[in-house]
Amino acid sequence: MNPATFAQAIAAAQALGLERLDAQLLLLHVLDQPAHARAWLLAHDTDALAEDAAQRFQSLCLRRAAGEPLAYIVGSKEFFGLTFRVDARVLVPRPDTETLVNWTLELLQAPGMPAQPDILDLGTGSGAIALAIAHSLRETGHQGHVTAVDVSADSLDVARSNATRLTLDVNFIESHWLEKVSGYFHVIASNPPYIASADPHLEALAHEPLGALASGPDGLDDIRQIARQAPGSLHPGGWLLLEHGYDQAEAVRKLLLREGFLQVQSRRDLAGIERCSGGLWPGEQRIRTGNQTAG
Ligand code: GLN
Repeated sequence: MNPATFAQAIAAAQALGLERLDAQLLLLHVLDQPAHARAWLLAHDTDALAEDAAQRFQSLCLRRAAGEPLAYIVGSKEFFGLTFRVDARVLVPRPDTETLVNWTLELLQAPGMPAQPDILDLGTGSGAIALAIAHSLRETGHQGHVTAVDVSADSLDVARSNATRLTLDVNFIESHWLEKVSGYFHVIASNPPYIASADPHLEALAHEPLGALASGPDGLDDIRQIARQAPGSLHPGGWLLLEHGYDQAEAVRKLLLREGFLQVQSRRDLAGIERCSGGLWPGEQRIRTGNQTAG
C-alpha cells in the first residue's frame, strides 16, 4: 500500500533503512523541489502524495537502500558551492577534497606566482577540482589557465558537460596521468585513486568506478607514478598537491622527498585528518647544481 502523506512516505522510507535526511532529499527530488526546501517539506507534512510520485519515490528509496549514492540517484552533488552533475561514470565529489582546492587557491595567491598561472587537475572525474578552481579564479577577478586530465573518455564527457553548464573555460585532455600532457604548470593538484585493492571499504563503494578508487596493494601505485612524472611538467618552484587516504600522509611525504620535492608538508581535512600532501619542485637546474661537488 502506498503511503498517503509526505510524512508517511518519509516514515516508510526510514523503515526501508534510509536516513531521514536522504529520504527527505529523495522526496524533494521527486516533487521537483530544490534540496534546500526541507522546511517546505516539513510544512507540508500532511499533504497527500500523488500515486505516481509515491511510486517513483519508492523506487528511488529502494535504490538508496541498496547502497547507491544519493548523488547518482538525484544526478547532482554540491562541491565548493557549485552544483556538479554526476552519474556512475564518475566518483562522487567528497567534501574532503575541498582541502585540496583551498590549498591550491592559497598557493596561487602566494608571492612569486605569475599573474596568469597554469594549473593542472590530474584525474578530474566530474571536473570538480578543475572547475572549482576556475570558478574561484573568475569570481575573484584573477586570470589563469586550468587544464583537466582524465584517462576515461566517459568521465571527460561528464566533466565537459559540467564545464559547459557552469560556463567555465577548462582545457580537457584524455591521458593516463601526464603521458599526453605537454607544457609546464605552476600547480598540479590530484585526487587519484588511493585505496588499497584489498581494502574492505571498497565493498561500500561498489557503485562508484573502481578505477577511480583502488590503486594496487598499498593504494599508492598511482601516487607513486604521479610523483615520478610530475617534475617533468612543473615549472621550477611549482607545486604538486596530492589527496590521499587517512593513513597515507607519512608515506606520501616520504615518496615526495625521495623524488626531490622540497617544503614537503600535509594539510588536514574538515575532520582533522591529514588528507593532502604536497611539495615544491625546485627545478632540474637546482637539483643538478646541488649534486655537483664543491670546487
Ligand atoms: N575519499 C574516497 C573514499 O574513501 C576515495 C577517493 C579516492 O580514492 N580518490 O571514499
